[in-house]
Amino acid sequence: MSHVQLRDLSKRFGDVVAADHINLGIEKGEFFSLLGPSGCGKTTTLRMIAGFVAPTEGSITVAGAEITHLPPEKRGIGIVFQNYAIFPHMTAYDNIAFGLRMRKVGKAEIDRRVRASLDQVGLSGLEARYEREMSGGQKQRVALARVLVTEPEILLLDEPLSALDRKLREEMKYWIKNLQQDLGITTIYVTHDQGEALTMSDRIAVMNEGRVVQVGAPSEIYEQPASNFVTNFIGHSNIFPARVAEVINGEMRVEAAGTVVHMPSVRGVSAGDTISLVVRPEHILLGDSSAAGDDMVTTRGRVTDKTYQGSFIRYELAIGDLSLVVEAVNRPALTVYEPGAEIGVSWHKESCSVLTD
Ligand code: ATP
Repeated sequence: MSHVQLRDLSKRFGDVVAADHINLGIEKGEFFSLLGPSGCGKTTTLRMIAGFVAPTEGSITVAGAEITHLPPEKRGIGIVFQNYAIFPHMTAYDNIAFGLRMRKVGKAEIDRRVRASLDQVGLSGLEARYEREMSGGQKQRVALARVLVTEPEILLLDEPLSALDRKLREEMKYWIKNLQQDLGITTIYVTHDQGEALTMSDRIAVMNEGRVVQVGAPSEIYEQPASNFVTNFIGHSNIFPARVAEVINGEMRVEAAGTVVHMPSVRGVSAGDTISLVVRPEHILLGDSSAAGDDMVTTRGRVTDKTYQGSFIRYELAIGDLSLVVEAVNRPALTVYEPGAEIGVSWHKESCSVLTD
């Protein structure tokens, strides 16, 4: 059984179904993210796990023991919020010591654990600082230390980086991920930022309208999105309407973007069906010489726009009535195309996934 198990977990607020029969198993030591747009129910789900919101239906177990109706302080769960919630009238040291003092831990033990925690989050030497004397990143480290010092079995993080500026967010996401790996603590992370979820997580549950719509490793979610919703939510994608012309021996012949594509057949799809093909912008190659061979899908397009983005060049292309986005990694000797150019466009069959919804 999974370390944290959610079974048919639902929450209704009046007419609003914030969480709708959520079934998830989170493994011990896993970094698991709940990802989705605003209002999809991720915070409500996290708060049910923390014990701040009572489920309308369903159950939550941790290590096999039911905690659905336990008060928050009895769950062995620590939660860090996006707005830090550290006490402004206390020093960093006292903030971190607070939970241990409430638990009546001895003074010497508190001192030992607080100093170890400060060290763990890279704040040794700053223990006498007040909130107003700390940067956003330092405040967030105090907030995390304050939770970790109580040695929770499960760590919940509710958009902990959203109050930080972009550069700090980038730094902190690697830092949190490394710390989580060092500690091996089961972690559930809520975010609407797909970049954060893809970088930090072992697995991701994508949510929409109170439901879990796909669960998988970051590469699965990114490369084999299971629906139009996931495809559009996780980064930019090119979605081509396509028609299945023939299905034989586990292969199908598909007409899309003015070309014919042979690819492995997909369960439930038969000749005459309309499907969509999904290709990520960075998987498309430009230029005539780049692509040949049975494994490649080739067609032609016209460049309609080009934008320099530093690490890559973003093109918009027209293939007949379709428009598509291509991101070409900026490297030495890259051929750059200008708007108006008619060029070869290709992608590897395997970088193409199929949507049937
Ligand atoms: P965000 O990223 O904006 O916080 P979220 O995915 O975390 O969004 P929730 O906060 O879980 O979404 O909200 C899910 C739905 O439940 C929303 O429609 C929200 O308005 C509603 N909701 C949440 N809390 C309450 C409440 N206490 N009373 C009434 N409706 C609520």
